Amino acid sequence: MEIEQTMQAMLQLGAEWEVASCRYEPGAETFYIVIRETPALWQKERCGKDDGKVYCYDHVGLTRWKHLNIFNQACELQCDLPRAKCRSCGSVYRITPPWEGLSKHFTRDFEAFALTLMREMPVSRVSDIVGVNDGRLWRMLLAHVEAAYAELPMNEVTVIGADEMNRRKGHHYLTVFCDLTARRLLYATPGRDASVWERFARAFREHGGNSGTVSQISIDMSPAYRQGAADCFGRAEVVFDKFHVIGHAGIAVDTVRRLEAGLDKRRQSLLKETRWLWLKNPNNLTDNQQRRLNRIDQHSLWTAKAYQMRLALQAIYQLPRLRARQRLLAWCRWVSRAAAKAPSQLLLPMLRVARMVESHLSGILAHWSSSVTNAFLEGLNSLFSATKRKARGYRSTRYFIAMLYFTAAKLNIPAQPNFPLANHPVPL
Ligand SMILES: [Zn+2]
Repeated sequence: MEIEQTMQAMLQLGAEWEVASCRYEPGAETFYIVIRETPALWQKERCGKDDGKVYCYDHVGLTRWKHLNIFNQACELQCDLPRAKCRSCGSVYRITPPWEGLSKHFTRDFEAFALTLMREMPVSRVSDIVGVNDGRLWRMLLAHVEAAYAELPMNEVTVIGADEMNRRKGHHYLTVFCDLTARRLLYATPGRDASVWERFARAFREHGGNSGTVSQISIDMSPAYRQGAADCFGRAEVVFDKFHVIGHAGIAVDTVRRLEAGLDKRRQSLLKETRWLWLKNPNNLTDNQQRRLNRIDQHSLWTAKAYQMRLALQAIYQLPRLRARQRLLAWCRWVSRAAAKAPSQLLLPMLRVARMVESHLSGILAHWSSSVTNAFLEGLNSLFSATKRKARGYRSTRYFIAMLYFTAAKLNIPAQPNFPLANHPVPL
């Protein structure tokens, strides 16, 4: 076989296109493959508007596409693409060749390869490997995410979880909405006020979702989210997510620690560098942390008391629903009594959590009748950090959200066939 025929077979061009010539230029370290259309194209091609027969109107000039490397040398496809004119409606359009990707000047195969790498590593690293600047890689990602996201069905969604994430510490908040049954990201949008719900509800409808068939919504207890959920998904039962409830208690323990450390020198030295001891669960402590915790005289510290309260609240989630209700109320009474005895309102942060539990009791108890585990929402946190790593150096919210969809929405995006990395499960 001649090299042209070999390349034609390997590129799987079909009868409509043929390889006119191939050449290697050592100076450019690039292998060029020139392609042209055959008469068969005009037999097969039809107008996109009215399916009319077309003829060759003119050619647009040489266009280039970066293709997969050959023997580790760059490879470029070139074609003077024809334009077609419709015999019935007269419209003129550029022919889309079968090798063309979604972003400019890349072949589909090259895009699949680059996207496969982008699942595994930061875009800047992919840029080094494939020799394409990261701005172009981001545009490639965006084109694929937008095309695949448009096809994302939401008509079978019944349980939704919403959560906030911050792109950088303390600011740039996003709200993410997930299908907790299918464990996929549905929507991400900047902000964390009630308006994010309107935007999500609109996208949800556009993707075939029906708010009437959403039975449960799992959220944090923030008033904005409660309002948004009530306005947009009024029929759904609101479930206050277990991890958020416990999370509030964890934050309160940390606040108590800081308040108590500020009381006097003795407490300050007792509590020095203990932040993580109180935030972690006992079985997650390292040996060093465990020894440190054992050395602390916990009876003399209000922080230790608050810590015991957090652990007790957490333990209630192991109980059956009927007992959980009693225990939650008893927990609130215990916290109130202790807070009344504590000096300088030290346990006020815990008291606030107890009041929050009381006033959100039914939504908190809905956890026990909820059919889904919220571990997915918790797992999102690790996904967010992974996305931040991959998007490092990029500040555009649009690109960041595209990366989130790419990683967590289970979109139908091409991957390199038979490439071992492509078979890796999505990290969720
Ligand atoms: Zn036409």
